[in-house]
Parts: sequence; C-alpha cells; structure tokens
Amino acid sequence: MPDRYVPYGHQLIEEDDIDAVAAVLRSDYLTTGPMIGRFEAAVAAATGTRHAVAVNSGTAALHAAYHALGIGPGDEIVTSPITFAATGNAALYLGARPVFADVDSDTGLLDPAAAEAAMTPRTKALVAVDYTGTPASYDALADLATRRGVALVADAAHSLGGSYKGKPAGGQALVSILSFHPVKTITTGEGGAIVTDSDAIAGSASRFRTHGIERDQERLVDKTRPAWYHEMQELGYNYRLTDFQSALGLSQMAKLPRFLARRAEVARRYSEAFADLAGIETPVVPPDRVSAWHLYVIRTSDPALRDPLFEALRARGIGVQVHYIPVYMHPYYRGLGYAAGACPVAERFSASCISLPMFAGLSENDLDYTIETVRRAVAEVVGR
Ligand SMILES: *Cc1c(COP(=O)(O)O)cnc(C)c1O
Repeated sequence: MPDRYVPYGHQLIEEDDIDAVAAVLRSDYLTTGPMIGRFEAAVAAATGTRHAVAVNSGTAALHAAYHALGIGPGDEIVTSPITFAATGNAALYLGARPVFADVDSDTGLLDPAAAEAAMTPRTKALVAVDYTGTPASYDALADLATRRGVALVADAAHSLGGSYKGKPAGGQALVSILSFHPVKTITTGEGGAIVTDSDAIAGSASRFRTHGIERDQERLVDKTRPAWYHEMQELGYNYRLTDFQSALGLSQMAKLPRFLARRAEVARRYSEAFADLAGIETPVVPPDRVSAWHLYVIRTSDPALRDPLFEALRARGIGVQVHYIPVYMHPYYRGLGYAAGACPVAERFSASCISLPMFAGLSENDLDYTIETVRRAVAEVVGR
C-alpha cells in the first residue's frame, strides 16, 4: 500500500454542519419535523423550481419521479448508458424497461439523435443524465420529448449548482432528481430530492415517500372528513429523509457556492496541467453550460492504455475510479437480454475513462501531488 491516498471523492463536513445536526438531535423531531421543509425550500431555490421533495436517496427520487409519470409494466424509458445503474434500475422497479441510447463521443452526454432512434411507441420518458456535472443537451432533448409526446426527466445527481444557458441545473426537465450521497456536491449522508414545477408530480412524490398516504386536504378523495383524516391512495414506500439529515443538507446548501468554486478551480488546474500531455484527453464542457464538476474524467487516446494508467495511479495512492461501465454491460442486465455492442460510442468512452480526485476539500498539497503523479504516470505508460 502506498503511504499516501487521495480518494476520488469525499464529503466536506465542518463544525457548523455538526452543530446543525446536533441541534436537531436535541430537539423534539428526529423526522417529519421543521427542517425538511426548510431544506426543500433551499433546494428548490437553487434549482429554480417551484417544488423540491426530499427523500432518503437519489435512487428513491428516481423511483418516485418515474412513478409520478405513470411509468409501469410494458413502458420504456430512453436513457444514457453512461450513468449510475440506478437510472435504469428505477424503471425496472416499476416493471418498465430502460432502453439505452448512445452518447456524444466528446462529452459522454446522451446524444439526442441516438435517443430519437431508440424511441418506440412504448417510450414513456426520455431521461437525460448530467454526467460529471455538465447539463445534458436540453434544447434538443426538450424538443424531441415534445415532438414525441413523452416526458423529459433529468438525472441531475451530478449537476447541482451547474447551469444550462444561464439557468440552474435541475430546472430543465419536467422533473429532475438530485442525490446527496457523500461524494455528491452537498451531502445528507444518504439522501435525494425530486425537483419540479408541477404540482401534480410534487404531490405524487410526497405521497410516494410516505406509503402513498395523503394528508393534504386539497388532495383528499373524501374532502368532507375532519382534520385527523388521511387516506392511503396508492401503494407507496417509506422514503422519508430525517430532520437531522435535512439540517445537514440545509447547512451544506449555504456552502454550495464555495464548494462549486473549489471544484471549478481543481478542474481548471487539471486542464491547464494536462493540456500539453500526449496520450490523454481532458473533459469537454460545451460553451453554453457550466459544469458543477462532480467528476473530472480524463480519457486515454488509446483505450489499451487505460488499465496500465489506472494501475500506475492506484499504485501511487491516487484513488482513481471508472465512471461508468455502460449500465447494460453489467451481468444483471445481460441476464435480462441486453447485449454488448448496443452503444459503441459509450463502450469506447467507458473503456478509456479515468476519474481523478475531485472534491471541495481537496488540499493544494494533494492536488499538486495528483497533477505531478498523473503527468509522470502518463509519460511512463505512453512511452512504454
Ligand atoms: C449517485 C447517483 C444516483 C443515485 O443516488 P443515490 O443517492 O446514491 O441513491 C443516481 N444517478 C446518478 C447519475 C448518480 O450519480
């Protein structure tokens, strides 16, 4: 084991975050208390949406979003294979089938033309993924969704704080989802949210996270009953976020601009340091978007050099990762009948990519060490 280890992602928790959580632990409400609404308001404001519904993971948010759109058995969603498995899995939970369409070779973002080609009469939703924190090509995707009469969903788990044509990420689609896992831009430990301008989708998501039970007088089937009355209107889950997690999230949201600035600075330093380096390509962000820099992904020009470079970096204590294996290549998906070769651009992208350390708490010292180590390892591997 190398004596130094720089992870690819890490939370940044400060004393005031800890104080905020401790205050809730000393209060009357550990869950279903006042912090949830305050956290949701901060998330809605940051994404420029009317509603945020906090849940206990990004995966639960995907499940709730797809459910709110009425996705069920026999339906299909079209999405990118360069994503975390949950984007597809949540469709499987509902008996629907994820259909994977190819990506742009420069950005790894869903290619609107490929998405269109993958649509069938069974397609219910188009699910964009803001891979690495760069918003997807929303003008083209929204146009496609409108023309084909399907819902546009955004998996914005990476992009909180990014923007598309000057508008905050998470506000481009009919419904978007966020994740607050520790490696994401802000954290609640585990957690996620559904963000939308739609009253109906927000209402559905808030029922879904609490067993399908409705307490909002406006939404009851039987409006004549007294105040204690509530109805289980559909089958839901317990997907609630706790109050102490919401307090952590609220405390973290106040730091979002600082966290984003540090991530952007790390990205700038990497791109500058690697600009002249033969054998690797640095990430591309289209000029009409601002990335939240969840990931900084380099690609080896020759896919055969990826594994040697990965090994060389790991051996020197750089906690590099691969984001992502195309979802349909996993054994479970193969078992469902998905086959290799379906998205050749994504497969090549995946075969050449390496995620470098990228997080707000990355020290100057570890950043310098990573840059130096990558430059040496690339020269060594390419020169072999
Ligand atoms: C993290 C992530 C999710 C799932 O979020 P969890 O909070 O871990 O359940 C979904 N999609 C993408 C693209 C992610 O990166």
